[in-house]
Amino acid sequence: MVSKRVQSVPASGTIEISNMVSQLKAAGADIISFSMGEPDFVTPSNIIEAAVESLHDGFTHYTPSLGIIELREAIVEKVKVFNNIGCGTGNVLVTPCKQAIFMTALGFLDPGDEVILPDPSWVSYEACIRLAGAIPVYVSTRFEDNFVINPELVRAAITPKTRMIFLNTPSNPTGCVYPADTIKAIAEIAVEHDLMVMSDEIYESIVYEGRHLSIASLPDMFDRTITVSGLSKTYAMTGWRLGWAIASEPNIAALNKLQSHSISCCVSFTQTAAIEALNGPQDERYHMVREFKSRRDLALDLISEIDGLECNVPNGAFYLFPRYKGEMKATELAANLLKHAHVAVTPGTAFGPSGEGFFRISYAASEDHIIEGLSRIKKYMAENL
Ligand code: GLU
Repeated sequence: MVSKRVQSVPASGTIEISNMVSQLKAAGADIISFSMGEPDFVTPSNIIEAAVESLHDGFTHYTPSLGIIELREAIVEKVKVFNNIGCGTGNVLVTPCKQAIFMTALGFLDPGDEVILPDPSWVSYEACIRLAGAIPVYVSTRFEDNFVINPELVRAAITPKTRMIFLNTPSNPTGCVYPADTIKAIAEIAVEHDLMVMSDEIYESIVYEGRHLSIASLPDMFDRTITVSGLSKTYAMTGWRLGWAIASEPNIAALNKLQSHSISCCVSFTQTAAIEALNGPQDERYHMVREFKSRRDLALDLISEIDGLECNVPNGAFYLFPRYKGEMKATELAANLLKHAHVAVTPGTAFGPSGEGFFRISYAASEDHIIEGLSRIKKYMAENL
C-alpha cells in the first residue's frame, strides 16, 4: 500500500516526459526533445580523466558523509570567489542538488508549516514541501514582469505559519534572473519575519545579462539560508549527481544526519572529478555559456516568427517559457505537440498554476534541433491554433 505521503504528490513532470521521449526514441520515433533541462555537451575531458584515474587508483569506497575534505575545500574557495559567501568546510555538505532540496524540506519543515515559492517554479519544489507535510504557498509571477517575483506579494503571503521561502535564480522554468533589488527586498522580509530561505542556484553560472547574486551573501542571511547548487548544469554533468549545500554548521549537521540515513555519501570518484571541475581549466564552461546564449537568441528569433506565440527574453539558464494563444490546456498542447509534431516540451502547468497557457522549451539542444523543432511547432500552431 503506497503511503498517503507519496500519494499526495504526482511523479515529476520533467522526468516523466523525458522517460516518455526515451521510450519513443527507442521505438524509432523521430522526436526532437526540448523537454529535459540538461546540457547536450559531453562533460569536459579533464573531468572525465580525473574520475577514471580515481577509479584506477581504487577510490571506490564510502567517503565521509559530508564529502571528502579536499572537495569541501574547493567548494569553500568557489563560493568565496563566485558567490561572495565566506564560510569554512564545516558549512559544506557534498550532496546532489536535488537531494539537498529534498533534505532541506525534510530537515527544516514540520507538518503544517507554510513555504512561499514563486509560481511558476521547478516541479519538484512543491513535491518536496508536501512530502515533508508542509504547505506550498504560491506567489504568482507575471510574463509582463519577466517572471520576477514581487517582494510585496511575498510579504502579503506571510502568515504565522510561514517558515521558509524558496528562491531560484536564474529560474527554472522561466530563465529569469532576479535583479539585486528584488533579492535584497526578499532578504529584508526574511530577516523581519525570521524566515529561512532555500536558495537554489544551480543555474548560477549561466547568466547572459545582469549578475548572479547569492542571497546568503547579504547581511544577516547566511545563518538562515540553505544555498544549494552543483556541477550538473555548469559543467554538463547531470548524470554525475554531484552538488552541495552551504549553510550554518548546525544546519549542515541536520542535513548530514539525513544524508547519513539515506545515501550515506556521494559517489567517491565523482567527488575526485568535482575537484578537477572546480579547480581545473574553466574554458569549456565559458564556451558552453556562449553557445547557450547564441542558441537562446536563435530560438527567440524563430519564435518571433510563429503566430500565436510570444516570449520574453530570459537572461539566464537555458529555458524559454513562451505564452501561446488559444484555449487549449497546457497539458493538452504538450501532448499534441509530442503526438502530432514529434516535439517534446514541458507543459507550463507542470511548474504551477500560473503556467497555464505556457510551455517550457529547454534550448540546451543543438542548433539543428532548435531550427527543426521550432519549425515543427510553427507548422502545428499554424494548422491547429
Ligand atoms: N531540472 C531539470 C529540468 O527541469 C532536470 C529534470 C529534473 O530534475 O526535474 O528539466
